[in-house]
Amino acid sequence: MLPQVVQDALNKQINMELSSSYAYLGMSAYCELNNFLGSATWMQVQSQEEQGHAMKLYNFLIARGCKVKLEALPAPPGEFASIPHVFECALEQEHAVSESINDLYELAHNERAFAALVELQWFITEQVEEEKSVREIVAKFKMLKDDPSAMLDLDRELGARQPDPA
Ligand code: MG
Repeated sequence: MLPQVVQDALNKQINMELSSSYAYLGMSAYCELNNFLGSATWMQVQSQEEQGHAMKLYNFLIARGCKVKLEALPAPPGEFASIPHVFECALEQEHAVSESINDLYELAHNERAFAALVELQWFITEQVEEEKSVREIVAKFKMLKDDPSAMLDLDRELGARQPDPA
C-alpha cells in the first residue's frame, strides 16, 4: 500500500494540476478579450494538458487502490498587465509546479514508494519541456518590444498549437 503521506501529497498535486488548468483557462479568457486569439488558443490547449496531468495522477491513485480526494480550487488571477505578462505569470506557475513535483519525488523516494517514483519520472521530464516552451515564448515577446505587427505574427504562431496526442 502506498504510504498515507505519499497519497496525501499525490492528492495535493492533483489539486495543483487542476488549479494550473484553471489558471490557464483564465489566461485564455484574458488573451481572447484582448484580441490575441492565437495566445488564447495556446492557453486553452495548455489548460487541457494540465487537466490530463491531473488525470494521470488520479488514475495512478485508483490503480494503487487509493482514495482520490478532490479539494476546492483557488480562484486564479483574472487581471494581467499585458499579453507578455500573461506568459511571464505562466512561467512562474510552471516553476512552482516543477518545485512541487521535485518535492513529491523526494518524498516518494524517502518513503520507498517506488511505483510512485516511476510515475513521477514522467512528470519531471514533462516539466523540463513545459518550462522550456514557456521560457521561449517569454523571450520572444521580450525581443519584440511591443512592435504590434511582430506581436500579431507571434500570436498567429502560438495559435497553431495543437493538443498533444496523449
Ligand atoms: Mg502540469
